[in-house]
Amino acid sequence: MAPTFTHEFNHSAFKGKVEVPVGLFIDGEWSTSADKSAKTIDVVNPTTGEVLTAIPEGMAADVDLAVKAAQTAFDTTWGLNCPGFKRGEYLIKIAELIERDIDILASIEALDNGKTFSAAKGFDVTESARVFRYYAGWADKIHGKTIETTSDKFGYTRHEPVGVCGQIIPWNFPLYMFSWKIAPALATGCTVVIKPSELTPLTALYMTKLFNEAGLPKGVVNVLVGLGQTVGAAIAAHPDIEKVAFTGSTPVGRKVMEEASKSNLKKVSLELGGKGSNIIFADCDFDEAVKYAAQGIFFNHGQTCCAGSRLYVQRSIYDKFTQAFKTAAQGLKVGDPFEPSSYQGPQVSQTQYDRIMNYVECGKQEGAKVITGGKRYGKTGYFIEPTIFGDVTANMKIVREEIFGPVIVMSAFDTEEEVVAAANDSHYGLSSGIFTLDINRAHRVAAALKAGTVWVNCFNELHPQLPFGGFKQSGIGRELGEYALENYTEVKTVQINLGMKCGIPL
Ligand code: NAD
Repeated sequence: MAPTFTHEFNHSAFKGKVEVPVGLFIDGEWSTSADKSAKTIDVVNPTTGEVLTAIPEGMAADVDLAVKAAQTAFDTTWGLNCPGFKRGEYLIKIAELIERDIDILASIEALDNGKTFSAAKGFDVTESARVFRYYAGWADKIHGKTIETTSDKFGYTRHEPVGVCGQIIPWNFPLYMFSWKIAPALATGCTVVIKPSELTPLTALYMTKLFNEAGLPKGVVNVLVGLGQTVGAAIAAHPDIEKVAFTGSTPVGRKVMEEASKSNLKKVSLELGGKGSNIIFADCDFDEAVKYAAQGIFFNHGQTCCAGSRLYVQRSIYDKFTQAFKTAAQGLKVGDPFEPSSYQGPQVSQTQYDRIMNYVECGKQEGAKVITGGKRYGKTGYFIEPTIFGDVTANMKIVREEIFGPVIVMSAFDTEEEVVAAANDSHYGLSSGIFTLDINRAHRVAAALKAGTVWVNCFNELHPQLPFGGFKQSGIGRELGEYALENYTEVKTVQINLGMKCGIPL
């Protein structure tokens, strides 16, 4: 067993000591780096700013070892050597263990990331188990087609696992993103080398214990905590990784793609940033629209790639909506993630806190009006008040750039054409919302918006069955749903000759 980080939780929903293995998880074992120059990475509690523990850092040499382990597993115990129904059984077992340990995982997530325990339990951990269950169902239903050609020949396709996959994930939904990546890869028969964010590694490390408990063959999943420029870059550039799946910022996604193309032209899927628009028409259900607009931006403290961070409200209801939205934002309780009444905990790190507050200052300097918020909350940790800017114009930095915090920009619009053009005026294209009770308008605007997801009369809803991904610079490929299976499979065509004679003139 690895050295562990031990923490005694004592909050109203869970009391008990939890042990998290801290080490590089390669071939079913925990270790320190093969590179003697490796250091440790501090894991910080964002509620207090205090260091919780220091964990061994992975390096490029460890990526080599993990890829070898993943390749061996692929060639022996997994891939085409483990039938789909069996892979499905492992995924079900993992889902059951997540559900058994839901309070533990939610507590670790709240401690490490700062999200509230209730959100971590009700959303992140619950949905992660659902993602494993959903892909368990797919594991024995991945098959090709029989395709007719000429009368003396036919072909069929096989959907085969790509092989060893590298996966790199961010800190905003540490366990949930881990599940989005691992579950479809395992369902299709791929093996995995995954790098969690160095800011929030603890739930991924706890999961390594559950993988072993589930009896998952060693080497099928390898977890390496390390920095982006070392472990992340080594995954993107590795010649024996056949596919890299990345979730994170657009600039880093670009680098991952460059490395992938310079090395072995590995397959790439990217889930990147966003600046989601949320359009409130005057004919909406007003009260629901106010609530969803608040959830659209303030859920997960605004640290959501698909957040509805640009709010467009039809002019005839703009003033009334602004007032109600301000009251809603002020009604959300910011505070300790383990306090049941808290809706919003701290931002994940000092760096993110500073970044968001710089945007807030920038918005003020650009002439936007602070309707509410804009300040630090409390004296310790990285808390920021839910913040609404009004009177914004299209060229302001706070309107164009992803802030990734509890900060929303509002403006009024008159016509449908005008607001569709404004919503589409972004190099991002991840998400959009429409609030209207006019069914024709809902479908018309949904079709006109350039976004990978359009929510009608709701926001930030995610389901394992529905694909998720970006238009434009918000990404390449889709995760979740049946579509995610394409990321992890190669299509092989087999042609069968039933008697056609060879045409060579011999
Ligand atoms: P980030 O791009 O800084 O980091 C993401 C991951 O990439 C981390 O694990 C990091 O260590 C790693 N990394 C950093 N440099 C690297 C490099 N040179 N090579 C390889 N890997 C490297 O993003 P973040 O700050 O962790 O997360 C926030 C961003 O993620 C936001 O832009 C957000 O919109 C985006 N995001 C997108 C989705 C989506 O599904 N589209 C979901 C969640 C987050």
